[in-house]
Amino acid sequence: MRRRWITILGATGSIGQSTLEVLALHPNVFGVWALTAYHNIPRLVQQSLLFRPRLVVVPDELKEIEFIALWREKSGDTPPGVLLGDEGLCAVASHESVDLVMAAIVGAAGLSSTLAAAKSGKTLLLANKEALVMAGELLLSEVAHSGAILLPVDSEHNAIHQCLIDAQQGLKSGFQRLILTASGGPFLRTPREQWPTITVAEACCHPKWSMGRKISVDSATMMNKALEVIEACWLFGVEPSQIDVFVHPQSIVHSMVSFVDGSVLAQMGCPDMRIPIAYALGYPFRLESGASALDLMTAGALSFEALDGEQFPAVALAKDVFKSGRSASVVFNAANEVAVACFLAGHLGFGDIVPLIQSVLLLTEFTEITTIEEILEADSLARKQAKLLIENKQWQGVPLW
Ligand code: NAD
Ligand code: MG
Repeated sequence: MRRRWITILGATGSIGQSTLEVLALHPNVFGVWALTAYHNIPRLVQQSLLFRPRLVVVPDELKEIEFIALWREKSGDTPPGVLLGDEGLCAVASHESVDLVMAAIVGAAGLSSTLAAAKSGKTLLLANKEALVMAGELLLSEVAHSGAILLPVDSEHNAIHQCLIDAQQGLKSGFQRLILTASGGPFLRTPREQWPTITVAEACCHPKWSMGRKISVDSATMMNKALEVIEACWLFGVEPSQIDVFVHPQSIVHSMVSFVDGSVLAQMGCPDMRIPIAYALGYPFRLESGASALDLMTAGALSFEALDGEQFPAVALAKDVFKSGRSASVVFNAANEVAVACFLAGHLGFGDIVPLIQSVLLLTEFTEITTIEEILEADSLARKQAKLLIENKQWQGVPLW
C-alpha cells in the first residue's frame, strides 16, 4: 500500500503530540508532510528532526529565524521548507500531496486551515471542535462538495462514530438518541460559593485527561460539553433534543447511542486520546495506538449521574444557541475564547466565565452567516463585545442578563 501523507495542524499541542506518538508506531504506513506550531519552536524543531516533514509552518519571520537557527544547532542537514501564518497553514492543509489532515489547532485560529482541508477533499481528522461550532454548515457543505472524509477525533464524537457509522452503509438505521458522557471536570463537587477563589492551576488540572489549557478550562466550566453538543448536532445531523449528557466521572464510557429496539451501544477505553486518534488515522481499519487495553476487572465501578444544570448552565445554553441558528454559535464560541483567555491571564474569575458568555449572547443581534467573511465578522464583533464587558467590569455585581 502507498504511504499516506499527513499534515498536522497544531503539532506541538497535546493532540498534535499524541498524533505523532501514534504515527511513530507506523512508519511504513504514514509519512509526515507538514507540521505547524505557534509558540513552541524548540518542540517543533525536535519533532521535525524525528519525523522529517517536507514543510513546517510558524506564525511569522521571527519564529522562522528561531526555527532555522535551532535546526542548524542540532543538525547538519537541510532544514524543511518554512511557510508563514494563516496562508502557510492553508497551503499545507490543501497541498495536493497530502492525504490526511489532523486539525488540532485550538480555537478559531484553526478555522481557515480546517476549511482549506475540507475544500480540497482531504481526509479530515477533526479535533478542532471550535471550527465546527463556528462554521458547521459551511464546513459540511465544503466536505460534501469536495468528497472530503470527516472523522471526529474528539473522544465522545469518535465513540459515537464507532457506534453509529457502518463503513459500508454509512449511518446505521434506527438510532434514537445520542448520549454524550462528561467526566464532570475538577469542580463537579465544588460548591458554587467556592468558585470565586478557583485558581488557573486548579482549573487546568483535569482529573482524567491531560489536555491543553483552553480545553481544560472548558472542561471545568462544562463549556467543553456545551461545544460538544453543538459539534454532535452538526456531525450526526441531530437536533439538540436528541442529545443527553450524562456525568460519568470515570471517563471509561466515551459516549453511547440508543436505538429504537432498546439497544444501547457504548464505546469504552482508557482515557487516552491516542485511541480516537488511531481510529481516525486508520479508518476503516484498526491500528495499534500505543494505549493500554482497558481492564474492566480493575477499572472499578462505572457510575452515571444527571448533570446539575444550575451548577453548570452551559450545556442548556448550547442547546438554545444551536436552535437560535444564524451567528449564535459563533458568538457563543468567541465569547468563551475571550473569557477563557482573560481567566488564564488573571483578569476574570472562574465563576464569571459562563455569565459573561450569557451577557454577550443577550447583547448581540445574531446575523446570517453563509460565508467565511460573515463568520469572521460575527466572531470579531462578539470578541469586541466580550472585551468591552470585561474592561468595564459590567458582568460583575449586577448581572446584565
Ligand atoms: P493545545 O493548546 O495543547 O495545542 C494547540 C495547538 O494549536 C498548538 O500546536 C499551538 O501551537 C497551536 N496554536 C495555538 N494558537 C494558534 C494560532 N493562533 N495559530 C496557529 N496555531 C496555533 O490544545 P489541544 O489540547 O491539543 O487541543 C487542540 C484542539 O483539539 C482544540 O480544539 C481542543 O478542543 C481539541 N481537543 C483536544 C483534546 C485533548 O485531549 N487535548 C480532546 C478533544 C478535543
Ligand atoms: Mg471531548
